[in-house]
Amino acid sequence: MAKIIDGKTIAKEFSEQIKKRVDEIKSRGIEPRIAMIRVGENPASDKYISVKEKLAAEVGISSVVYKFGSVVKEREIADLIFQLNEDKKVHAILLQSPLPKNLQFRAFVNLIHPNKDVDGLTTINQGKLFSGEPGIAPCTPLGILHLLRTVCEDVAGRHAVVLGRSSIVGRPLAQLLLNANCTVTLLHSYSKDLPEICRTADILVSAVGKPLFVGKEFIKPGATVIDVGINRIEQNGSSKIVGDVDFNDVFDVAEAITPVPNGVGPMTVAHLMHNTLKLACYY
Ligand code: NDP
Repeated sequence: MAKIIDGKTIAKEFSEQIKKRVDEIKSRGIEPRIAMIRVGENPASDKYISVKEKLAAEVGISSVVYKFGSVVKEREIADLIFQLNEDKKVHAILLQSPLPKNLQFRAFVNLIHPNKDVDGLTTINQGKLFSGEPGIAPCTPLGILHLLRTVCEDVAGRHAVVLGRSSIVGRPLAQLLLNANCTVTLLHSYSKDLPEICRTADILVSAVGKPLFVGKEFIKPGATVIDVGINRIEQNGSSKIVGDVDFNDVFDVAEAITPVPNGVGPMTVAHLMHNTLKLACYY
């Protein structure tokens, strides 16, 4: 039976530490502030933004949300980002993904000043991560590494297999794991023999966005399994959220596993606050 890695509790403890640091910098006259931009009508994005606003309030970070409808001129989004880049009261800017299909996420992300790029997605911050320089790394991969360290203090020398190579999760996570001296294999939709390769993993992270994609045939006995996927499925006439990993199938084989929900999700939001704090302290 696997140990369940309780992301909700770990994120709560981490948020309490963040709050203490926020109180400390406020007493020195710094008021950390995050600006979040949502474009288009997307109920999931609205939900994520409200979770972020709630945690920001809990840890004492002030937040402001800018909402654009689906019909918006590119210039309006760009002008807002330029204005926030110049605003000395704003330390962190988040562009919530996805954007409507006609707008290119990376083009807008790269308008954010790298010193305010709270999710570490600008090409400059991604370059720093890839060259091992200090900078701001993306929140979900940071949260995953944080969870891993709760079950495995030193990940050096472990074989980590990452399923999925997006610029938000898979690629930066592979780089963070490499920087932590793991041996890393990055798999994607063109990769062959997935179960066989995954069975060589001491650490398996799935970020493909396919419900119950990873079964026990992917798992080496004793492996740590991190499930990033958030997938909505219909079951018995109602809808529910499941991960990429078939939790029940894998439970008896893995050494440790994250649940969905309450695994990686809360850690992403906690690291968003931690990155905001870092930006407020640095710049
Ligand atoms: P993307 O759709 O951007 O990337 C998915 C990746 O999975 C791609 O690299 C794709 O390969 C790969 N892939 C797709 N199908 C297969 C397959 N059959 N075999 C192997 N690889 C495959 O997704 P994201 O990275 O943005 O998100 C992944 C999941 O994580 C989603 O469910 C998302 O909701 C969730 N998520 C959760 C977060 C959290 O905080 N918990 C935060 C961010 C995302 P290729 O590149 O070849 O197309």
